Amino acid sequence: MRDRILEHKQQIKLFIKELIGFAILFAILGLIVYFFFQKSIYSNIDAGLNRQKERIERNTYANEGPLSVNQRPGGFNPFNNYNNSDFQTNVIVFNKKGIISNRGMLGQRNYKLLSKLTVKNRKLNQVEEITLWSHNYVTTFRGILLKVSDDNTNPEYAGNYVLILQNIDADLLALHSFVEALIVTLIFFWAIAILIAYYLSKSSMKPIINSWHRQKEFSSNAAHELRTPLTVIQNQMEFLLTKPNDKVVDQIQPVSTTLEEVKHLKVLTQRLLTLARSDSNIVQAQRSDVELKPFFEGVLSPFNEIATSQNKSFVDTIDVDGSGHIDADLIKQLVVILIDNAMKYTPKGGTVAVKIVKNHSNLKIVVSDTGNGVPDEDKARIFERFYRTDKSRNSKTGGTGLGLSIAKWIVDQHHGRIHVRDNHPTGSIFTVNINL
Ligand code: ADP
Repeated sequence: MRDRILEHKQQIKLFIKELIGFAILFAILGLIVYFFFQKSIYSNIDAGLNRQKERIERNTYANEGPLSVNQRPGGFNPFNNYNNSDFQTNVIVFNKKGIISNRGMLGQRNYKLLSKLTVKNRKLNQVEEITLWSHNYVTTFRGILLKVSDDNTNPEYAGNYVLILQNIDADLLALHSFVEALIVTLIFFWAIAILIAYYLSKSSMKPIINSWHRQKEFSSNAAHELRTPLTVIQNQMEFLLTKPNDKVVDQIQPVSTTLEEVKHLKVLTQRLLTLARSDSNIVQAQRSDVELKPFFEGVLSPFNEIATSQNKSFVDTIDVDGSGHIDADLIKQLVVILIDNAMKYTPKGGTVAVKIVKNHSNLKIVVSDTGNGVPDEDKARIFERFYRTDKSRNSKTGGTGLGLSIAKWIVDQHHGRIHVRDNHPTGSIFTVNINL
């Protein structure tokens, strides 16, 4: 329950971080798009104003008089709406006294508004934004003021200040609509991105959570497995302390039990270490070319003696030649685990048979025994960590429940397969196939 709350909290934290991350990302994207859009509109207008300024200075329109109202200097702009705009291009001429001298060209309504403009405090030859307020509306221009030289051939301009204005109400309206559309679009995509991120994070967290659960289970199982032999050792030692005058020979039973448990602890810690290392990918198969026949003969040689000492038969067949690309240490560990198990779970008088065959590039290792076999319902699970078919039987055999999971890991490292099936009339057969 606590774990679930913790996972949930972690997921919410991740989700909020994603929410903020995407919001920042989309805000930056929006600002960049807005900035470029605004820049493209203004640069278009400003270029037109500058072109017109040059025309006046060069007096291209010398014979036409000042430019008329509603002549638009800008290039093509899809967002401009000429028809509904009261003001577009206005050329206002200020005489030397600063009074508008082309009033007749501006029209009554325009003049009323534009008459508010003065040349005072205005920068020369620089495009500025000018906002004018009337009692019932606001209108915005971009404008450039120039001082026309006295020798300009157009007497209307010569020696005067000329203010070229471009009405940008329509552009601002378009910009405004664009911003609205941009915000709606970004919010829409932000919501979609968040949903996708939420599902992706949930699914990507699954393996992490699973591995975290496995890790926790592994540690608690490991602690449990370590506690049992340690408790036995402690009990035996405490018992021995109550007999300080006894000789070892008098207390053979507790001494040998302690020794057994120490041996068990040694195997257990070695296996736990192997699995912990395999989990963190510290150990990986280091494959090299190995002469197979002498290698397997060396691995199997001690088992004849062990089998004899346990009143069991050991039969081995090594039908391999040439070399194979394997991790010799890991394959030795694999074969030892399988034979150890076969010996452990086969009663006295039974037989353990090992057959190692190389067929082209396939190496087959078969370990069979005449023991109790593995029940069908356990066949798939015995390769799991700490899984044992019969706990009471296993405690007697000193099993750790880790051997086969290490065997499976070794086979996986060699990209091979391992499986178990029944031996007839009794026992089990473990088969490993590895591609050399
Ligand atoms: P253990 O150290 O307990 O043997 P393993 O991982 O090697 O752990 O094996 C898991 C379980 O599979 C064993 O506890 C045992 O129940 C079963 N098992 C493994 N090998 C054999 C076998 N040859 N015959 C019968 N049961 C086996």
